[in-house]
Amino acid sequence: MTTVLRTRAELRAALADAPRPVGLVPTMGWLHDGHRALMRRARGDNATTVATIFVNPRQFNVATDYTRYPRSEARDLAACEAEGVDLVWLPPVEEVYPAGFDTTVSVGAIARPLEGAARPGHFDGVATVVAILFGLVGADRAYFGQKDAQQVMVIRQMARDLAIGTEVVACPTVREPDGLALSSRNVHLTPEQRAAAPVLRRALVAARDRWAAGERSADALRDLMWETLTAERLANPEYVSVADGETLGELQTVDRQALLSLAVRFGATRLIDNEPIGSRTG
Ligand code: AMP
Repeated sequence: MTTVLRTRAELRAALADAPRPVGLVPTMGWLHDGHRALMRRARGDNATTVATIFVNPRQFNVATDYTRYPRSEARDLAACEAEGVDLVWLPPVEEVYPAGFDTTVSVGAIARPLEGAARPGHFDGVATVVAILFGLVGADRAYFGQKDAQQVMVIRQMARDLAIGTEVVACPTVREPDGLALSSRNVHLTPEQRAAAPVLRRALVAARDRWAAGERSADALRDLMWETLTAERLANPEYVSVADGETLGELQTVDRQALLSLAVRFGATRLIDNEPIGSRTG
């Protein structure tokens, strides 16, 4: 049975006698199989699984992206129930940011490139809300998707620096059969855009394969991704990146663990994806 909680006080009370270890899965709702894989993993690792569903206004740098973000409480609660989530925190905005709230958690260098550069303020919003969630839940582990690779790195940095004892666990990206990474924003794609969207994965795989065949020039890999994306008429690439897998600084030569990543617009809908290379998972 999934218990739904709305206030900070209800959440704290429910956690007081919850069996440990506790696993936390933070989400913005409109749950899909990517979220459900995190819940499944949390449930397998922990005695209590807590999911949070909160469309966090502070992490949206574009107001219309926030207002049109898909929401359905009934649908999300059914998914939590099906995954055996014990506690779901579904707070109104003022429970997360009560009157007088006046703190921003701002992570340094790792939050600056890529999504940090493309979406000013985004990672401040993410780090701030995740710090609140970590503080409230006091979880032993928290589960995040590799689909948002830089987000995982930002949250790890934040938890380490603020001496938060929650272990940050990264889970593999869940994809549609044609390679498109599941995302709540996919619902906004028109049928034509949806048919074109697997180009993100194709560009990443093309670069990964070129790297596996021996290419070490980062520019050559960036060019290949850019050309693959621009060959798709409906795709408007925002950036392509071949970055150091630890610092996310752009590389000249791929002589270490690296992250291939990209952001692409289809009309008003912005999609991101990534692929690690040169690591155990790459
Ligand atoms: P969101 O609701 O989009 O904020 O995502 C909540 C969590 O689910 C984040 O840790 C995401 O990285 C993760 N997530 C989103 N999409 C996927 C996916 N396709 N595969 C795995 N994890 C995902």
